[in-house]
Amino acid sequence: QPLAEFKQISKTYPNGTVALSEVSFSIEAGDIHAICGENGAGKSTLMKILFGLERPSSGSLVIEGVPTVFASPRDAGAHGIGMVHQHFSLLPSLTVAENIVLGYEPRIGGVLFDRRKARKTVQGLSDRYGLSVDPDALVSSLSVAMQQKVEILKALSREARLLILDEPTAVLTPVETEELFERLIALKREGVTTLFISHKLKEVRALASDVTVLRNGKVSGSAALRDVTDAE
Ligand code: ADP
Ligand code: ADP
Repeated sequence: QPLAEFKQISKTYPNGTVALSEVSFSIEAGDIHAICGENGAGKSTLMKILFGLERPSSGSLVIEGVPTVFASPRDAGAHGIGMVHQHFSLLPSLTVAENIVLGYEPRIGGVLFDRRKARKTVQGLSDRYGLSVDPDALVSSLSVAMQQKVEILKALSREARLLILDEPTAVLTPVETEELFERLIALKREGVTTLFISHKLKEVRALASDVTVLRNGKVSGSAALRDVTDAE
């Protein structure tokens, strides 16, 4: 069964804008699934529903066979959905290990931070997922590509099984993009599922096993990539 399934999901915002209309598609476990579409197509709205930031107006989101409405990102996170934000959630004045261990809502002063344990946690994650980072580096000293890597590790440290990447290549050079793709393919081998949001159908061809194309809030194509390349 699919890891996540959108079943005839529609979303109308309070001002009357119809962002999604009867959108249906499935994200299979272990896939790199791309969502493509131009600005305004509904990609962010779809992602927000999957991450508990918006509620569908109708239709249902089915997670591993169970109809689900996520109340918040925390709720989505508890179900194994992890977000790699386009604008990162890292605190620049803290180290990599501090960011990963303290999570998304750090209670500064409210936690006793065990530096050695944090370093071990980060080392364990790096080894497990083949993503090398220096746990003691200050986030502010890292390149954007490296910060994105830390974001990915942070999501994985919260037991994410489905990683959402929202336009992740927008901030990367071509070489860094290539590295990101290799990283995602390696994660796929570890059983991590990826939802890759992009407005460039061309760039996902090399990466995704499945693609859903959105146009004006509707699915205009959903197929194995080789079948849609002519449609571009
Ligand atoms: P994309 O991510 O593909 O650019 P969005 O999901 O952001 O698409 O937007 C889909 C449509 O919904 C657009 O017409 C956009 O202007 C509209 N929209 C997005 N967010 C809101 C909102 N909070 N209120 C009203 N309209 C919105
Ligand atoms: P705790 O330390 O209590 O586990 P966190 O602050 O790490 O809590 O986050 C709680 C949950 O909410 C996590 O499962 C996380 O995935 C999710 N979450 C909250 N905000 C975000 C966010 N901005 N981006 C990604 N995940 C988030």
